[in-house]
Amino acid sequence: MLSIGVDIGGTKIAAGVVDDEGEIIASTTRSTPATDPALIEAAVADAVVELRADHEVVGVGVGAAGFVGADRRTVNFAANLAWRQHPLADELERLTGLPVVVENDANAAGWAEYRFGAATGAVHMLMVTVGTGLGGAIVMDGHLVRGGAGFAGEIAHMTAVPDGQWCGCGRRGCLEQYTAGTALVRTAAHRAAAGDPLLDPLMAAAGGVREEIDGPLITRLAQQGDPGSVELIGGLGSWLGLGMASISTLLDPDVIVVGGGVAAAGDLLLDPAREAYAANLTARRHRPIAPFVLASMGNRAGIVGAADLAR
Ligand SMILES: [Zn+2]
Repeated sequence: MLSIGVDIGGTKIAAGVVDDEGEIIASTTRSTPATDPALIEAAVADAVVELRADHEVVGVGVGAAGFVGADRRTVNFAANLAWRQHPLADELERLTGLPVVVENDANAAGWAEYRFGAATGAVHMLMVTVGTGLGGAIVMDGHLVRGGAGFAGEIAHMTAVPDGQWCGCGRRGCLEQYTAGTALVRTAAHRAAAGDPLLDPLMAAAGGVREEIDGPLITRLAQQGDPGSVELIGGLGSWLGLGMASISTLLDPDVIVVGGGVAAAGDLLLDPAREAYAANLTARRHRPIAPFVLASMGNRAGIVGAADLAR
């Protein structure tokens, strides 16, 4: 049985025909006309028409970066796209004539890891995506946890530090402000501004310009063994472990999957996370310690997860 998965990002729409094994057997892309919902739908429909011309498909799953209603039809809000209480599934069904389900993009990617990727074989999974921001997906007893309104799994905005760093959501001290790329860059810039000699190689790699320091640069230098960058990534990992220990106290997952751009640092991120996790987990001497594993589906995850959820 084949279905189409669509991953709507801020700049690119990626779509593919996916089989029962989670393999993408045909794919296509369009650019995202981010400011106009009707144009986004037209671009998605156009991609679907192209793909179904050569393949018999049963439905379409769409992963979108935003708050998606628990009915999997409406996008309530998207920070980077022009959707407000938008009936995306209805519109796409009208344009394509196929059944459509809509899912939050982090949930779609997490579902792909659970079904076909790093969490295959697990029953209870926690996935965290460490990129510029922090994303989360929760699978419990084989089901994606969406919550009453569809807003579950937004781990980025759990309070980590009362009265801590201001967050883009309007509150202070959210976990995302300590465990994502923005935190990495902010910490690096502070320490560089204070003249921390450990960050001299990073500053040199940034051409002496503090504003040029970004997550990929820190990750790359860490991979090359630069002690200052290794320490920065490790600090992020420690916060990640602490945050996951807190979530595990509630959810008790079998496995914790870590994806996103910062995960390219591999064990430089995961080892400090594992250590902080084990040190902060409730009843840690009397329970299994969930392993931290790297996501394995890469940028296919959004398409594959959305397609599988449409079946
Ligand atoms: Zn927040």
